[in-house]
Amino acid sequence: MRRPLVAGNWKMHGSRQSVDALLNGLVEQEWPEGVELMIAPPALYIDRCVDRLQGSPLSVGGQTCATQAEPGALTGEISPAQLRDAGCGYVLVGHSERRTLFGESDAVVCKKFAAALACGLRPVLCVGESQAERDAGQTADVVARQLQVILDAFGVGGLAEGVVAYEPVWAIGTGLTASPEQAQDVHAMIRARLAMLDDAQAQDVRIVYGGSVKADNAEALFSMPDIDGGLIGGASLNAEEFGAIARAAGRV
Ligand code: PEP
Repeated sequence: MRRPLVAGNWKMHGSRQSVDALLNGLVEQEWPEGVELMIAPPALYIDRCVDRLQGSPLSVGGQTCATQAEPGALTGEISPAQLRDAGCGYVLVGHSERRTLFGESDAVVCKKFAAALACGLRPVLCVGESQAERDAGQTADVVARQLQVILDAFGVGGLAEGVVAYEPVWAIGTGLTASPEQAQDVHAMIRARLAMLDDAQAQDVRIVYGGSVKADNAEALFSMPDIDGGLIGGASLNAEEFGAIARAAGRV
């Protein structure tokens, strides 16, 4: 039985004031049983979030990390060991914004995944196709390529230690959501691919969906058999909305 995960990616949003207001709203929410909850704030606010969320069911994660765990001369970077030290349990790797805007290749994403695991963080591996790739019928190939680099290095067991987030790039921040059936097709394809390598472990891998999830579409998406929760961007900046999305995951 896979425990659903609902995670919020705050991206580069917030100030000390607005983060405090959002945290106040989050601690007042009614959180469902049986759903794991995580928020990934900007790194500057991780300490603040960890402190304020003590005793709540929400954990804190990083939005990205350096490719190495060891300290070093990497100006501006934050290592997964530092994220762990700050109280994080998860880190996103390979978010499409990192891949497209910061040029992160599959090889770089794999190094980050490895460094995160080495520090005891659970990496959330983001995969997904662009609109052009979907239109060209390349969704399965793109997602398979993004997964393969991790599978080559860590096998299905490595993915089971983390989480896979299927996030079609065309649905991120656009208001365009994959239909539950479109998302389920890709999630099932991912699980089938993992099952060819190790069926038992494939059943344990959590595959969450991301891309314009809102309170009013969450339940339909999370009801799909291979969708194990969500990675939520814009809607996670509103405590009520994020709470409602989490409660939808608790109902399915
Ligand atoms: C994301 O950034 O991971 C995301 C899914 O964003 P949004 O929910 O805003 O589409």
